[in-house]
Amino acid sequence: MQYKLEAPVHGTIGTQKYQCTIAWRNGKIIADEPVQTGGTDSGPDPYTLLLSSLTACSLVTMRMYIDRKGWDIPEIGVSANLFQETVDGKLTTTIDRDIVFMSNVDEEQKQRLMEIVKHCPISAILESNIKVRTFLFRDGETEKKIKYAGDEVTVVWKPEFCQHSQRCWRQLPGVFDYTKKKWINPNGASADKIVEQVKKCPSGALTILPNPEKKKD
Ligand code: SF4
Repeated sequence: MQYKLEAPVHGTIGTQKYQCTIAWRNGKIIADEPVQTGGTDSGPDPYTLLLSSLTACSLVTMRMYIDRKGWDIPEIGVSANLFQETVDGKLTTTIDRDIVFMSNVDEEQKQRLMEIVKHCPISAILESNIKVRTFLFRDGETEKKIKYAGDEVTVVWKPEFCQHSQRCWRQLPGVFDYTKKKWINPNGASADKIVEQVKKCPSGALTILPNPEKKKD
């Protein structure tokens, strides 16, 4: 399992209705709700952000293809919107994506781009079998803590907090191997890599001791 983004998108909200700050790898954007739902419309709402992703991906995908082909198509426009219906108790969402060419483009090129854009990466995600997994980070004490002391770092695992996200053992299998009785090997990677991986634990089950204990043999 390899995440698409090196660092996750991270959002926070305070008490100001309903302004959210979303941090991405190179900056921050503001999201909000429209006035009619109690927000101040200071940034795009979640539906808009979802559609923006599809819109941007569609444009970038077409631009890459056009440039690779050396076609003279200076500008393209994409609009996206969605509607939802409940049929027989089941919610269905339909996204409409409209493409507009702002210059003369021959019919064959248009048809080719229509095909290409249908397979842009975000379309592929939206049309795939998507699961949303939700984890709760807990920061505190539990009765059970198991320490795995290595030469450079000591990894502490709190089994009651573990939500079995699989992140640790999928991303750093040299250290985390659930098939073994002693499932954490704190010497299985560099200390930096282990610290970095421990920070990705979504539940708070993994921590590193601030003053690493030396391994006692
Ligand atoms: S990353 Fe954390 S929550 Fe996920 S399996 Fe490992 S210890 Fe458990």
